[in-house]
Amino acid sequence: MSGAPRGKVSVVVPVYNEEANIPELVPRLFSVLDSLDRPCEVICVDDGSRDRSLEVLRGLLDRYPDRLRIVELSRNFGQHPAILAGFAIAGGDVIVTIDADLQNPPEEIPKLLALADQGFDVVGGVREVRHDSFFRRAASRVVNRVTTTITGIRMTDYGCMLRAYSREVIDLINRCEESSTFIPALAQTFSRRPAEVAVRHAERRAGASKYSLYRLLRLNFDLMTGFSVVPLQIFTLFGFLTASGGLVLGIYLLVRRFILLRASEADGVFTLFALAFVVMGVLMAGLGIVGEYVGRIYQEVRGRPRYLVRRVYGATGAVIRLEGGVEGTVPRP
Ligand code: UDP
Ligand code: MG
Repeated sequence: MSGAPRGKVSVVVPVYNEEANIPELVPRLFSVLDSLDRPCEVICVDDGSRDRSLEVLRGLLDRYPDRLRIVELSRNFGQHPAILAGFAIAGGDVIVTIDADLQNPPEEIPKLLALADQGFDVVGGVREVRHDSFFRRAASRVVNRVTTTITGIRMTDYGCMLRAYSREVIDLINRCEESSTFIPALAQTFSRRPAEVAVRHAERRAGASKYSLYRLLRLNFDLMTGFSVVPLQIFTLFGFLTASGGLVLGIYLLVRRFILLRASEADGVFTLFALAFVVMGVLMAGLGIVGEYVGRIYQEVRGRPRYLVRRVYGATGAVIRLEGGVEGTVPRP
C-alpha cells in the first residue's frame, strides 16, 4: 500500500559541487518538512563532488541525526544515476526529488505532497517563470516539443526535477536496470494518475550549472533513445521517400529522352552536387542515430553498475538495498 495519506516523506537531493548551497538548502528543507508534522528523511547523494560538499553535508549529520542520510558515490555518475542511488535507499511512502542549487524552492514541496496525498502517483512541477539564460529556455522549449512528439510522453516541463513519486512508482523504477535513463519520463510510463502543479523557480543560488551544451545533448539522446524508436522510423521513412523521389525522377528522364525525344541534359551538375550533399548528410545523421542505439545496447549488455556507492552516512544500522540487489547495513560513519 502506498500513498497512505500523510505517510513518510523522503526527499532525494543529487549533489555535485554544491558546497555553497548546502548550508542553506538542508535547514530550509527540514524547516518545511517539520512544518508538515509527518515522518520524513532527506537523502543527499554526493555525486563525486570535487569541492567540499561531502564534508559540509557530514557536518550537518549531528544536527539531524536520524533524518539526514548521505550517500557517497565513488565518482561522478550524473544527476539521474545519483537520484537512482537515493531511490534505492529511500524508505518513504512519497518520494520527492529536488535540485541542490535552490532553483527549486523547498517551500513548494507541500504543494506536491498535497496532490500526492490525493492519490496522484506522479506529481510533476512546472516552472512558472524560469530563471535560466535565454539560451537554456529556448533549448528547453525545442526539447519539450520534440520529446513530446517523439516519445508520446506528455509532460509540460521535462526539465523540472521538483517532483513527487508514490512508493509503487519508485519500486518500479528501482526494478529497472537500464544504464542511461531519464527519471521523469521513466516515472511517467509507470504512472496511472499523473498530475502537474506550477512551482516557483529561482536563480541558481551559488556555483555554476553542471550542464554544458554537450551534456544537455547527451541527456536528450538518453530521453529520445531510451523511450522511443521513432528516430529510426523517421529515418526509414525518409529513405523510402528519397528512393520514391529518385524513381519518379528516373522514369521522367527516360520518358523525356525516349518518348518525347528531347536531348539529354548536361547542365545541372551542381544541382546534383547539392542534392548529393543533402542525401549524404541525411545518411550520415541516420548512421549516427543508429549508432546511438547500438552504443546504448552495448552499454546495456556490458551491464556495468550505473553507480557505485562508497559509503552511506547517517541512520546507522538501517538496511539498505545497494545496486545489484545487494542488501547491506549502513556502516557506522
Ligand atoms: N548534479 C549531479 N550530478 C551531475 C550534475 C548535476 O548530481 O553530474 C546535480 C546538481 O548538483 C544539482 C542538480 O543535479 O543539484 C541539477 O544540476 P544543475 O543545477 O547544474 O542543472 P540545471 O539547473 O542547470 O539544469
Ligand atoms: Mg540548477
